Order: sequence, then structure tokens, then C-alpha cells
Amino acid sequence: MSRNVEYSDAESGSLVHSPSRLFVTANERQCSLIFAPNYDVSLFGIERFHPFDSRKWGKVINFLKEWGLVSDNSLISPIEATRDDLLIAHDKQYLDGLRSPCRVAAVSEVCFASCIPMFILDRCFLKPMRLQTGGTVAACRMALDNGWSINVGGGFHHASRSSGGGFCAYADISLAIRILLGHQLVHKVLILDVDAHQGNGYEQDFAEDSEVYIIDVFNPNVYPRDRPARQFINRAVYVDSHTTDSTYMRLMREEVRLFFTSFHCDLLVYNAGTDCLAGDPLGGLRLSPQCIIDRDEFVFRAARDSATPIAMLTSGGYQSSNAALIAASIRNLHEKRLIHLFK
Ligand SMILES: [Zn+2]
Repeated sequence: MSRNVEYSDAESGSLVHSPSRLFVTANERQCSLIFAPNYDVSLFGIERFHPFDSRKWGKVINFLKEWGLVSDNSLISPIEATRDDLLIAHDKQYLDGLRSPCRVAAVSEVCFASCIPMFILDRCFLKPMRLQTGGTVAACRMALDNGWSINVGGGFHHASRSSGGGFCAYADISLAIRILLGHQLVHKVLILDVDAHQGNGYEQDFAEDSEVYIIDVFNPNVYPRDRPARQFINRAVYVDSHTTDSTYMRLMREEVRLFFTSFHCDLLVYNAGTDCLAGDPLGGLRLSPQCIIDRDEFVFRAARDSATPIAMLTSGGYQSSNAALIAASIRNLHEKRLIHLFK
């Protein structure tokens, strides 16, 4: 991948010029919270029968609105990533493959999707994912100016340049970092991934990149069990199934804080999945809601203390209670003055 400001477009041979069209700037009435109503996946109501809450992103915002913390005017709308944008992080063959319902069914892990016409899958599933991907790029850029940002979506850490899976179609983290590195807006990036699952997508993508440092805190006993990708993690923190609050926070304090004091970076990409919550059918951990709120506060505080810009992504966690938990954690960050929300 070129580190120059201009990218060669693999498809057309033309050059895609800077600045990225996915960068958005906040006006004085907006806080660094990125969201669009079209983040939510809806498939004529069928999605209600899927075990994932595919409307959690909108619910997070609804809670924050109910609590008087944000309004439509104070939120930042992302720009949907186009094929040309996505080619910065993906190869052409992979994107072409997403034109097949069977391939989309495999990536989304929704088997009946293979029976749905492609134009509907694109509108109802892939388009929201492209919008959230644009949100991650915007969040990472915005954090550099504002010190913090939250994309109320994104965090598709199982997608890589040439593959997807685990409900992850597009490699939003890789794309955002590639763009910022390419524009020389950052030189060192730290990914801290605390989703319950291993972030094997970006780990493969940045296998050869010394500019990207990876701390992955995950349960090694659940999907994706990608042992080859583990060699690309700089600091792997294993949390076994059934881990509870005190053990988890001890690991965060002992293993993670060390790196904030020893590693300087220009941006922290914080993949803050909430599937560590007790009862999650996929994560296998047993954390309380309060532990996850404390975890997010710990990371934001560490970022502030080291003057590191932080971009948070909400990633996995699709139980019906996850939206309220994410919203409560964002409210806590606001109340602790680690972020600043307004209506
Ligand atoms: Zn996960």
C-alpha cells in the first residue's frame, strides 16, 4: 500500500486525490458523536427474528436523546464509503464477491440471506455497513482535531483485505488507518480491541506494518480462533470463558495501562465491543454492565492522561440490553468529563 497522498485506483487506473471524501468536520453546534439513522439494518421486519439486535445503533442514540444529552442537530452524519474508497482497504475480487447473495449470507452469518435478491441485500445490509465504515473513517480523522470521537457503529474487526465474516463485511478499521497513514496525518497508531472476539481482520491487514501496534484483549476459546493471525498481535491478553469483573479489570490495569506509558502513538483506535457482557451467546465472558462502563472510563482516562486522541467504535454485542449499556457508558464518559456532549 502506498504511503503517498494519492492512491492508485486499482479498478480505473485513475488517482484518488486527497483529502478523503469521507472526512467530515464538525460545526460549533455538533459534538464528536457520529451516527446516521441508516446505520440500523432492517429487512422488512425479518431481522426481528435474528438473535442479533440489528437496530442497536439507533437505540443508543434514542437513549442519549431521552436523557437530554444529544439532539439530531448535535450529531455528525457520516458519508457512505464508495467502491473507490473501499478499494483502499480491499481487493477487487473480494468486493466483487459481495455481489453474490451466498457470499453476503456467509459474511453476515444470516443463512436465509442467500435467498434474498442482491439489490435488497445491498440496500438493507451492505449499505448500512458502508455508512458505518464511512463513520469510522470520519471518527478517526475527527479524533485528531477534537481529542476524542465516537462512531456509534463500526468496529468490523473480522473483515480483512480479502475476506469477511462474523457480521463484518468491510474492514473499516484498516480503511481508516490506511487513509490517515496515507495522508501522513498519523505515523503511529495503536489499536486497542476489547471486543470479546479476536480482531483477526486488521491483524492480517497490518501484519507487515510497524506503524500499527495492536493490543487485543479477547477470549481465545470462541470464534474466530485464528491462530495464524495471533502472531501479528503485539500484545495479546487472553481472557478465558467465564471471566468475571475483578479478573478482567486487573488484566486491563496490569496489561493495558503499561502500554500507554511505554508506547507513544498519534491515535488510539478503541474497539469497544460489548459482547463481554454476561449472557452474551457468542462472547463467553461474564462481565457486569458496570464493569464495561468502568472499562471504557479506564481507557478514555488513560488516553487523556497520555494526551492521545481516541476514536471509539461500538463493534460487537447484539443482545437486547447492549444498546442501553453503550448509551450508559457514553453518559458516564460525559459525566466524568472525559468527553463533552451537548444538544
Ligand atoms: Zn465480538
